[in-house]
This record gives sequence, structure tokens and C-alpha cells, in this order.
Amino acid sequence: MVDWEAYYRHRKGDDVDVEAERAALIGVLETCAEICQEIEPEARKGWNQPAELVDGEVVQPPHIRAAYERIRDAGLISLPIREKYGGFELPTLVCNIVLQMVSRADAGLMTILGLQAGAAEDIQKYASEELCQRYLPRFVSGEVQGAMDLTEPQAGSDLGGILTRASEEDGRFFLDGEKIFITNGGAEIHLVLARDDDTFEKSKGTTKGLSLFLCPRTLPDGKRNALLIERLEHKMGIHGSPTAVVRFEHAEAFLMAKKGEGFKAMLDLMNNARLGVAAQGVGIAEAALDLAIRYSKERKQFGIPIGDQPLMKNMLARMVLHLEGSRALLYRCAVLVDRNRSLEMYMEREPDLSDAERSELERMLERNQVRIRLLTPLAKYLATETCDQITRSAIQVHGGIGFMAESEVAKLHLDGIITTIYEGTSEIQVSFALKEIGKGALEIVFEQLSKELGALSGDLVPYADKVRAGIQRIIKASAALLQDFSYALLSSKPVADMVVDVIVATELLKQAQVDPQRFDLAASWVNRKMLDLEMHAERVESGGVDRIARCERIVSLFE
Ligand SMILES: Cc1cc2nc3c(=O)[nH]c(=O)nc-3n(C[C@H](O)[C@H](O)[C@H](O)COP(=O)(O)OP(=O)(O)OC[C@H]3O[C@@H](n4cnc5c(N)ncnc54)[C@H](O)[C@@H]3O)c2cc1C
Repeated sequence: MVDWEAYYRHRKGDDVDVEAERAALIGVLETCAEICQEIEPEARKGWNQPAELVDGEVVQPPHIRAAYERIRDAGLISLPIREKYGGFELPTLVCNIVLQMVSRADAGLMTILGLQAGAAEDIQKYASEELCQRYLPRFVSGEVQGAMDLTEPQAGSDLGGILTRASEEDGRFFLDGEKIFITNGGAEIHLVLARDDDTFEKSKGTTKGLSLFLCPRTLPDGKRNALLIERLEHKMGIHGSPTAVVRFEHAEAFLMAKKGEGFKAMLDLMNNARLGVAAQGVGIAEAALDLAIRYSKERKQFGIPIGDQPLMKNMLARMVLHLEGSRALLYRCAVLVDRNRSLEMYMEREPDLSDAERSELERMLERNQVRIRLLTPLAKYLATETCDQITRSAIQVHGGIGFMAESEVAKLHLDGIITTIYEGTSEIQVSFALKEIGKGALEIVFEQLSKELGALSGDLVPYADKVRAGIQRIIKASAALLQDFSYALLSSKPVADMVVDVIVATELLKQAQVDPQRFDLAASWVNRKMLDLEMHAERVESGGVDRIARCERIVSLFE
């Protein structure tokens, strides 16, 4: 379904050999699949082994180290990095599928590889050429890893609370403060969000006055920087992924992006990372689903395999439906990111475009950007909440054995929960989506959906009509949100669900048009989700801000 022809022509010009490029992408995916299949058994066996802090250094558990070496030897590190720094600059879609496979095999390892690629991409976009030359080839070779240091004890979802201080002395920058919950905190390169000293008091409590820094553990002259790993956390899952408390004691750092504009630059990394965590959710859920389906065929009760029971068939079908729905939304978003990147490259390569051509391309870029800004939080929200439900259902399919300490699906469930929390909790994702809706994103998104639904044919047409009716229902119900912003926030989950339902429906119907085997999947999504949508719409329409007071009264029964 991806138009690789257009993608590569925009990116590399008309002489590009699209078939060779496609074959290379498939080669990367096949190599990755082979390696992931090999590393999965060790990852399951070593699931309980945590990273450890030894003499101030993080030591990753043996299965993580071995798997990392295996992936590094195959050249699958920092795949999005540009060729001029030694990378392949693979499309986001393919990088995302790689992360899914790694997550399916070892969710802890994925955090290390995902952050490494994400940090390198942010350096590529926002650091000086000197910093790019110094660090990016080492990212690509796998010699250095990355960490993203945002969270502080008082600054979790609200990064306006950041108090780590960045002071400037004779054109050099130094950081003082403490960051918590830092994944792969032992990494050589830390991207740190810190508050500028000169506007500290004025900007406190806001995301203004924050700058983004690259803080290496080893300074260019070979001396150790004052960045200390204080502690590693004990967690309920992803034990192989080190989660650290990091202290900066006047550590030297290098400014990335413009001073005071760090939050915007970090949002880029976070949006990338959100698609990565969505991939992690899909990968973990896929592992659990695979085990559940296998078990349902083997385990017999009442003389037949449990998978032959109608209730069990429905449970498994729902699991597949939700996994494929999450994947469809994620791919739709990744393809849009790739489309925009290829258009940008085209504009850079063709300086002689007419003003009219250039402004048309800029209009397309902006429209796609509006869609990406809405789809990214929705994709993260859907994939991670789905992961939570699918891994939980996989335990249910296994019955009592699913609850045993050695149960693989239970481990997957414990690994999966964090996906709904880091890179912004589900509540934060739906609030972000609501903000984009408030800025008018639905108009562009729905216009595109209507176009795509109009292009469907045959047996799919009645389903396309139902989705069109769903879109109209959302538009009608949305009017109720205008009465009060608090009520809109209260409704942001059902609103996000409704929007997800019609986008995924369209994407699954398009898949069914290309591959008729997917007809039942798409039809079932439309039938089930358009009913849910009607219920959500009625609930949103029938309420008002007084529901908040009612929530308070209900909670007070327990106070
Ligand atoms: C294993 C792990 C790894 C992590 N890795 C990193 C990392 O590498 N780098 C990094 O910087 N951070 C990292 N984090 C931190 C993570 O991003 C935060 O934990 C997360 O953003 C939530 O912040 P918090 O824990 O302070 O929760 P809080 O912000 O205190 O939220 C608590 C609850 O309140 C809800 N809530 C908060 N605000 C709102 C709102 N406006 N509307 C509705 N509900 C709201 C949340 O959804 C949540 O349910 C990691 C955390 C963990 C557990």
C-alpha cells in the first residue's frame, strides 16, 4: 500500500532503482527477523535479570549485551541516520517495523535501541555540524548509546516543572540538577532538557526558557564529565532496560537547537519516540497473541480444544482485530512521516522549482503535518492500551497457568504496562489529541478519510457508508465539547476513541481492497466500532460540565 515509487523518486531523483531500494528494505527486515528469532529464547530465560550498577557504571544483563552485539554486527543500529554520517536513512515505516520485531523478542532491549536511534536523529536535526561529525558515526557503528533526560521528581507529565539549571560561562554551558527514571542512564550521550539560568525565575513553571543539551559522559579531551549515575530502579517489567537516577554536578554540555527553544526540539524526539513506543506495544502484544492462539489449540477442556469454544473464538478474534487496528494506525502515521521527509528532500534537491510548485508542496507538507500531529498521540494511545488488554487477555486464555511466575504471557503483560506510561501517559496522549482537534485538525483528517472511503468499491461500499455516517456523528457530537474546556478534557478519551475508530476503519477497508483475505477483519472492525462510536457520541452529547462535580461526589464516598 506504500507508494515507494513516489517516495524514492522524491528522495533520490528519477534515476533511482526503486526495485533495488525495495529489495534492500526487505533484506533489512529479513535479517532483523532472523536475529530476533534467535535472541527471543535467551530474552525470555533472562527476563528476571536486571541491569546492575557496579562502581558507578551500568552493567546490562548478559542476554541484552549478547543481543545488542548480534544486532550491531548486522549493522542494524541507528537506521534513520543519514548516509553522510554512515547510516542508511531508512524510512520511518521500516525502522518502526524493526522496533516491533525487537520488542516482540525483547522489550527491554528495544528501549536501548529505540533511544539510540531517537537520540541520534535528534542530534542530526538539531546539533551543530561539528557535534554531528563527532558523534553520529559512533552512534551508527553502535559504539555509543543514547539517553533522553527530561523527568525530574517534580516534573513528570508537566515538563514546565523542570529545575535542572543550565548556566553559561564564557560561551560554555554547564548543567546542575537531578533527573529520574532515565532509561539507559548509563549511556555515553545524554540529551538533557534544562532551564536557562538567565531566565530561570521568570520562566519557572513553563516550558519556555528550556534549552536542549547534548551532555557526554566523556568530554572531548578524554576527561570524565560530572554526570553521575546515582541509582538504578527495581521495576515490575522490562528488567533488562536500566532505569537510572542521574545527577549533573556542573557537567559540561553542548547546546542543541536555539537557546530557550529546547522544548520544541525535544518534542521532535518525543514524537519519534512515541511512534517507537507504539511499535513496542504492537511487538509485545503480537508475542502474547501468538502464544495465546497456540495454547488455545493445544489445551483441551470438555473434550475439545478451548479455542473451539465460541466465547474463546470471540476473545481471540478481538485480540487480532485490536492488534491489526493498532498496527494500521501506526503505519498510516509512519507513512505520512516518510512522505513529508521525501517531499522535503525533493524541495532541497530541486532549487529551480517555480514559486507556484513550491507553495503547493509547502501546502501539502503543512496538511500532512497537521495529520501527523493528531495521529502520533492517537497511535501511541491505541497501540499501548491495546497491548495492555491483549497481554491481559492472553493470561486469561492460559487460565491458571497464565498466572504462574514462569508464565511467558504474564511477563509480557508486566513488560507491556509501561508502554501506557512513558513517553507521555495515555491521558496525556488523548489531551494532546484534543488540543490538535481544537486547532481544527479533524477537518483535514476527515476530508482525507472521505476521499479514501469514496475510492472503495464492491462489497466494501456499505461499510464505507457506515464509516462516513460515523464521521458525521463525530462532527455532530463535537459541538457539545465547545461549551466548556473542562468538559472537553473530561471527554477526551471517548473523543479519541471515536476518531481512532473511523481512521482505523478506513485504513482496514483500504487493506481489504488490496487483500480480500482481510475483508472480515475490516467488516468486523466497522460493525463493532461504529456501535461503540454511537454510544460514545450519545454520552458526549448528553453531558455537560456538571459531570465533573458528579465525579467528585462519587470519589468523595471513599474519602
Ligand atoms: C521505566 C520507566 C522509564 C522511563 N524512561 C524515561 C526516560 O528515558 N527519560 C525521561 O525523561 N523519563 C522517563 N520516564 C518517565 C516517564 O516519562 C514519566 O514517568 C511519565 O511521563 C509520567 O510522569 P510521572 O511518573 O511523573 O506521572 P505524573 O505526571 O505524576 O502522572 C500521574 C498520573 O496523573 C495523570 N495525569 C498527569 N497529568 C494529567 C493531565 N493533565 N490530565 C490527566 N491526567 C494527568 C497521568 O496520566 C498519570 O496517570 C520513565 C519512566 C519509567 C517508569
